[in-house]
Amino acid sequence: MQSIDTRCVQAGYTPQNGEPRQLPIVLSTTFKYDTSDAMGRLFDLEDEGYFYTRLQNPTNDHVAAKIASLEGGAAAMLTSSGQAANFFAVFNICECGDHVVASQTIYGGTFNLLAHTLQKMGIQTTFVAPDCTPEELDAAFQPNTKCVFGETIANPALTVLDIEKFAQAAHAHGVPLIVDNTFPTPVNCRPIEWGADIVTHSTTKYMDGHGATVGGAIVDAGKFDWMAHADKFPGLTTPDESYHGIVYAEKFGKEGAFITKATSQLMRDFGSIPSPQNAFILNLGLESLHVRMPQHCKNGMALAQFLSQSDKVAKVNYPSLPGDSSYDLAKKYLPNGSCGVVSFEVAGGRAAAEKFMAALKVFAIETHVADARSCCLHPASSTHRQMTDEELVAAGISPAMVRMSCGLEGTEDLVGDVEQALASI
Ligand SMILES: *Cc1c(COP(=O)(O)O)cnc(C)c1O
Repeated sequence: MQSIDTRCVQAGYTPQNGEPRQLPIVLSTTFKYDTSDAMGRLFDLEDEGYFYTRLQNPTNDHVAAKIASLEGGAAAMLTSSGQAANFFAVFNICECGDHVVASQTIYGGTFNLLAHTLQKMGIQTTFVAPDCTPEELDAAFQPNTKCVFGETIANPALTVLDIEKFAQAAHAHGVPLIVDNTFPTPVNCRPIEWGADIVTHSTTKYMDGHGATVGGAIVDAGKFDWMAHADKFPGLTTPDESYHGIVYAEKFGKEGAFITKATSQLMRDFGSIPSPQNAFILNLGLESLHVRMPQHCKNGMALAQFLSQSDKVAKVNYPSLPGDSSYDLAKKYLPNGSCGVVSFEVAGGRAAAEKFMAALKVFAIETHVADARSCCLHPASSTHRQMTDEELVAAGISPAMVRMSCGLEGTEDLVGDVEQALASI
């Protein structure tokens, strides 16, 4: 297989003789056929082809194929956002009456999805600490558990998932492991190599990398044997009446069943397709992902090291920093670097944190991470503003915590900005 660098640049789209070198944007909602019968065969999933962009579009498919190649997966699809990707990944497996085991340090939006919205649809979730023992993890499973969920590097907690531990537990119970790999990207970690079955992304973050487009992706490793656990996954192993009785796992095998079902059922009915224009912009980001990630990591590491030596800082979280609670897991799963996001607690509490933020000149205050431009957020006065200081502490967020996302600027300018802002408090 080609290197990850070459795949970032070239995978997914291979022009034939005389075709455009750059990925064509196919801005067409629909596609023309000579006979009704030819189109009918597409509706029956008998032939492959395009008929309506809500289901599939050539531009989107080329970009999905690139992401599948980067993750080492068998098939992939794009979604309109990372939230849609995680919803589809879980809902393609689970239905009313089912149960999920999830790491508790995950993105707030995904926590809400699992803890509240999916609960209203009859799907329950048990949350476990990412550093739980194998026995504690085992005890979280129920007879109706259908999948396990975690984030390689959790946003914003920055804990690293012990992917092998979670994969072993999932497989011992005959269910797949879904890993959200947004923060490391496949340049720094490929969860499928450690046993994950399905990988999701908010492509809004490093993959786009320029703060231009919201998007998501789902990659299937193509390794999970749905038929071997047929009673657990009737949606994949029994006839789909909305598709003339097709059995996805029989007709499309381990490699194709999951993504085909998610496309032909969930995308058909929920319609969270990205615009082909956004897929094109995402692809431009992917072409430089392998060049950008090392600079994000270099800046993140330099900032974490600087903060860890400052007497104005009470605590630093960065997985690649020696002494961090996730350092050993980062060494194993993220040997080339983790990400550009660093969080820390300002000594002096909430007031000092607010003063620090106001003094920053290069880092901009934004609800975003993983952009080419550095940005920062004070959760206590923004995303978690409704909580009292006591509630914040209970949720694991210190009122003095600041989340910094190091962009692609010069390292000395980022560290210098933080240095002068700390000096002002
Ligand atoms: C941002 C994010 C999401 C949600 O993605 P959107 O593209 O904003 O919908 C999901 N998971 C992680 C880890 C994220 O950082």
